[in-house]
Amino acid sequence: MNRRDFIKRALTLAALMPVGKLCANSGITVSKGSGNISADLLFTNVELYDGTGKAPFMADVAVKDDKIVQVAASGTLKRTGCTVIDGHGKALVPGFIDVHTHSDSAVFRIPSADSKLMQGVTTDISGNCGSSYYLRGARGAKGKLKKMYGNFGAYLDVVEKASPAVNVAHLCGHNSLRLHVMNYENRPPTREEMRRMKELLADALANGAAGFSSGLYYLPGKYAATDEVKELAALLKGSGKPYVTHMRSESDTVLEALAEAIEIARAGDNNLQVSHIKTCFDRNWGKLDKMFKMMDEARRAGMNVMADRYPYIYSSTSLKSIVPAPFDKANPTELFGRLKNDASYRAKLLEAFYARGRKDMDRVILVRSAIPEHRPYYAKNMVEIGRMMGGLSPQEAVVKLLSSGRAPSAAFGSMNEENMKRILADPYVMCGSDSSIFARRSSGGHPRAFGSFPLFFRTAVQSCSCAEVIRRMTSLPAAKFNIRGRGVIAPGFFADMVLLDLKTYDSKADFAVTNRAPTGIEAVYVNGKLAYSPDSGAKTLRAGKVLRIK
Ligand SMILES: [Zn+2]
Repeated sequence: MNRRDFIKRALTLAALMPVGKLCANSGITVSKGSGNISADLLFTNVELYDGTGKAPFMADVAVKDDKIVQVAASGTLKRTGCTVIDGHGKALVPGFIDVHTHSDSAVFRIPSADSKLMQGVTTDISGNCGSSYYLRGARGAKGKLKKMYGNFGAYLDVVEKASPAVNVAHLCGHNSLRLHVMNYENRPPTREEMRRMKELLADALANGAAGFSSGLYYLPGKYAATDEVKELAALLKGSGKPYVTHMRSESDTVLEALAEAIEIARAGDNNLQVSHIKTCFDRNWGKLDKMFKMMDEARRAGMNVMADRYPYIYSSTSLKSIVPAPFDKANPTELFGRLKNDASYRAKLLEAFYARGRKDMDRVILVRSAIPEHRPYYAKNMVEIGRMMGGLSPQEAVVKLLSSGRAPSAAFGSMNEENMKRILADPYVMCGSDSSIFARRSSGGHPRAFGSFPLFFRTAVQSCSCAEVIRRMTSLPAAKFNIRGRGVIAPGFFADMVLLDLKTYDSKADFAVTNRAPTGIEAVYVNGKLAYSPDSGAKTLRAGKVLRIK
């Protein structure tokens, strides 16, 4: 469905909803002219960006329970007894939708969803890059396997019990299916294994999965041939749900990887989401034009093709991801086991690094580690870390870090600023932080955890109107992922809303202090309840919902 159709459908649905029914049994009213409607909250004097891309206007917005019940010109709704929030001319926008996250398990540890709400994000879509947590066990405090969710619906039930502060949707990931059925087997699935993967995916789609994700760059997705993923993606047919992919390559074979993604989406529901779209290393920066062209061609042939991106030129993933061939295909147990205990294996890896490894080690930054001894290296690059380790080469430093038994997370600066700005200006690109939920006090990691949405906005408004950028942070992702009744401020929609000052809305996070709060946010509402305010005295509620996508 294109944007116009989505908005038309959404507004029609809203119009069909009887306002009287929404507002029954309340003595609190807002009135317009002679007609009264009941409401709990009345936002007055706000510059309303409704999320559709329409130019803003000064408005009043009335909310009853979890829904928006009335939108009218500023000053025309009169309150009778409900709570009035004077926006003082600030912007009111739909809550932002983070389409690319890894919050699958963090949602249990940090249901308050601090890092999301602090940016104005009210909906989080996890299960990306082929990795969805629901097939894994939840680990208790001592690392003991506590619970195995086993099926998609059961996982969502447990998320619901955790009562997250943001709305949560979840994708079903190919790597998780493959790992569950085949472990780290580097071979095609047998017919029986394929049957089991399909059964799990069909169950997930029937029980609310927002789409099917892959991470063909990671193990064990890397072991899968195109046909395997196509056969699974075929289960999406007729569902309206996207195939969402971290492509097999984002560097030297990125064009081939994009062609593969389009081929797989064609076997699915002709609906493709390219995750964190990019071209890595200067030798590939010129390929962006061709990528845009390929996506345009697919669109002209009838495919719904969109993408997401975080507004940084540093990516972030496990440091393990930079090991050169053939070590890149070693499964983690083997790699870490041998690196820890086998000096000759370490020497061979070092040799491979010198021969085929990346050269820009000053642009590989350690960002987080489970090993306490790695803490002094946070926000330092591999050249600096080598020096701190007593004069090691950066390659030796990487091997030493990986030999600790656990891979730290690292950031990799291989993207191009101009390309990023072009991507962020594209009408089909939405914001995806690629980050899980972080607690307010938790620094370390990548600044995108606390800074993606304000920085996406600040960067994209250099080439688009505010209304257009807000559309790509709200109604566009809602339409792409079939999140009904959200992403637009109009009667009948859920009251996920952010009151903010667009002039000062900005990220303050960097690699040294990743959890600095963005500026400009005044208040964040989720399902009609105040979920976040920088005013520490404000009483907030965890009112997020689990979104089971039909
Ligand atoms: Zn990814």
